[in-house]
Amino acid sequence: MQLPSIILVCSILSSTLIKSMAVDTISMHQTFRDGDTITSAGGEFQLGFFSPGSSTNRYLGIWYKKISRVTVVWVANRDSPLVNTSGFLQISREGIILQAVNSSTGIIWSWSTSKLFKNPVLQLLDTGNLILRDEDRDFKSEEDFIWQSFDHPGDNMLPGMKFGIDLVTGMNRISSSWTSVNDPSRGSFTIGLDTSGFPQILLSKGSVIQARTGRWDGYKFKGIPKRSLNGIFKDEFVFNEKEIYYRFYLVNPTSATMRIILTPTGNVKVLVWNDQQQIWTVYSSLMDNDCDRYGLCGGYGICKIDKTPRCECLRGFVPRSQEKWKAADWSSGCIRKTNLVCGTDEGFVKYSGVKLPDMRSSWYTLKMSLQECEKLCLKNCSCTAYANADARRGGHGCLLWFGELIDISDYAEDGEDIYVRMPSSELVKSRKGKLEFILITAVLLVVLVGLILLSVYKKRKLMKEESLKLDSESVSLTKIENEDLELPLYDFESIAHATSNFSPEKKLGEGGFGPVYKGTLTGGLEIAVKRLSKDSSQGLDEFKNEVSCIAKLQHRNLVTLLGCCTEKGERILIYEYMANKSLDSFIFDSNARNTLDWPKLYNIITGIARGLLYLHQDSKLRIIHRDLKASNILLDHDMNPKISDFGMARSFGGNETESNTSRIVGTYGYMSPEYAIDGQFSVKSDVYSFGVLLIEIITGVKNRLFSHPDHSLNLLGHAWLSYEQDNLLQLIDGVILESNNYSEVFRVIQIGLLCVQHDPEDRPVMSQVVLMLSSNMKLPHPKQPGFFMERYLLRQDQFLSKPNLSSSTQLTITTLLPRQ
Ligand code: AMP
Repeated sequence: MQLPSIILVCSILSSTLIKSMAVDTISMHQTFRDGDTITSAGGEFQLGFFSPGSSTNRYLGIWYKKISRVTVVWVANRDSPLVNTSGFLQISREGIILQAVNSSTGIIWSWSTSKLFKNPVLQLLDTGNLILRDEDRDFKSEEDFIWQSFDHPGDNMLPGMKFGIDLVTGMNRISSSWTSVNDPSRGSFTIGLDTSGFPQILLSKGSVIQARTGRWDGYKFKGIPKRSLNGIFKDEFVFNEKEIYYRFYLVNPTSATMRIILTPTGNVKVLVWNDQQQIWTVYSSLMDNDCDRYGLCGGYGICKIDKTPRCECLRGFVPRSQEKWKAADWSSGCIRKTNLVCGTDEGFVKYSGVKLPDMRSSWYTLKMSLQECEKLCLKNCSCTAYANADARRGGHGCLLWFGELIDISDYAEDGEDIYVRMPSSELVKSRKGKLEFILITAVLLVVLVGLILLSVYKKRKLMKEESLKLDSESVSLTKIENEDLELPLYDFESIAHATSNFSPEKKLGEGGFGPVYKGTLTGGLEIAVKRLSKDSSQGLDEFKNEVSCIAKLQHRNLVTLLGCCTEKGERILIYEYMANKSLDSFIFDSNARNTLDWPKLYNIITGIARGLLYLHQDSKLRIIHRDLKASNILLDHDMNPKISDFGMARSFGGNETESNTSRIVGTYGYMSPEYAIDGQFSVKSDVYSFGVLLIEIITGVKNRLFSHPDHSLNLLGHAWLSYEQDNLLQLIDGVILESNNYSEVFRVIQIGLLCVQHDPEDRPVMSQVVLMLSSNMKLPHPKQPGFFMERYLLRQDQFLSKPNLSSSTQLTITTLLPRQ
């Protein structure tokens, strides 16, 4: 046999061998061609040639083997595509070479060193890492790898992958986005660890920074929301003289499939694979709100996510350009009112709870106290601020900034302290201002207490005289106007004009607060207008509560409050208009229900869960809704759900997790036992209501109205019985049955049953619910639900007041429990 034919036979044999066996390695002298694949030992990842999206170019890449949707996590020749299927890969004693047969372009992609290896093999590991190692040597750690794909990240970051700098070799692992879904070549966005000052992660477009994390505080990066994935994954940040890197691990790699991706449009998303829906769901992302945009407020500006406008100058600073500032262009930032004169009397203003400014112009040492740090900053004329370098153990070390302070925000849930340098004249003003502020606050407090006492007295007196309404309104008006809510105020004329004078034809519905109208502002913006009924004293409380709660919240699954109107004794709230009204009008209506298929319902379920998670955990206020039900879920024109009606909501401070009330508010069928009976409410009472909602969505039946010919259980009891008897199919409504996605529907029922368990301790928190919905982790078995027998949980004689509702289909109840 001639030599070329021997080589051909050998290569055919070798490629046949690769094709037919689930091998995970390519050895020296094997030829790995387009069409061949190798699979990691546990079957997690596969290496082969592929064409992305609509492109016909061929690339050598790694993708998930077990996931039906082709998800490429690494590409070798991302910047030099093969134009046909003639590509082949070979391993030699010098390294790895990807070439094309008969190609004039020669080598497409390669890696080599001057060192010769004895018996190198390329192996795909179950972590998704492609490594080159010496076959004759055992490998225990990554030090034994000659080369690894994890050191050359593309747009994906996988568990276990280091993201950062090797200070010994100088290698910096920077991720870069694909150009588009059809083109894996390096796009315009990169994300990498910046070590020019205190380490931080920067997301850039070309050389322009788009966003950044705060610094690592020992547990997480400051300034980016961290959803609790307790027990699911762990973060690690290593910072020593050899290397600085971040990586995350799955505690149990079989529990979930996770990755972080830098998208072609420049967003960084944490994705979890949803096995039921066969999609990647977004767990969190870096660019979640305005304040995440790098330097939105310019130098010495501070971004406040719960304020409108978003930007303010630091104390002692004024906008560089008043006109631009007024036009919401804050990029030119702020300048000092009084210039610093180095060496004269100077001091520092302390800011607490902020995301520290860009660290690129910082210097740090861990061996210094905060007092020494202050002295050091004062000594250096260009030092503008200082802080603790390490926030752990009560804080230690010294971090100094030189030059302009940029990208400060105060929305971080667990922000830090920073001390900003000021001339003494400003400090005196600020101290004086503080003193004045304390004095004014004290006077206001006394007046307020007086007013409250007066109002209580008046209320009691007027109750007797049966003229409660007018006076309580005037007291509450004072209170609302005293609150610093910065909510846009609309004038009454424009609202009346927008709603054709509150015409009955424009009426959308009516809740505990009063009628809701559709309106169109002169600019064309559609709005929903809630007008407090003049004779509703309960509505007035709800108005105050709604304004103070929702004005400070922002999430895509919460309805947005655009403003209010308090002119002419009116109490009007203006919301974004939700074209599809409320969820109850769909799920409990046999005709409307047919327009919702399972994927839409599932999207609604996960949206509500995310909104509730935000309220409970991720928002600054930490809120318990207390009246979650189908009629309080509004749907926009794309059927995205938004939680509404914060009239009953309560905010929680600090580590408070539950509270007691003698005034029970909520709705029949949705209230948890501990709340309805003892007035004890917590995040777990909202979880209970969420569970009821899930079971109502699946069955298309209201918990409150359910009845069964064979037993006297309510809907929850019936669902639990069906679960115990392994007969969940009988629960599922016809429209959902048509989806044939039983396993996902069964899973949602099980999650619903976990949420309605009798003991609040047994119920999951919303972060666990979101994870259960977005992954295929094993679910625990639910215990017996609360209120699974009782159809009516409260006796009529327990009612003290009942809101004046007309068209509302479900009663929101207000009950006063006897004090214990
Ligand atoms: P509520 O007072 O929030 O319970 O609202 C009563 C009814 O008005 C709801 O059930 C909806 O049908 C309608 N509604 C309330 N807010 C909006 C909105 N933002 N967009 C459209 N319809 C709304």
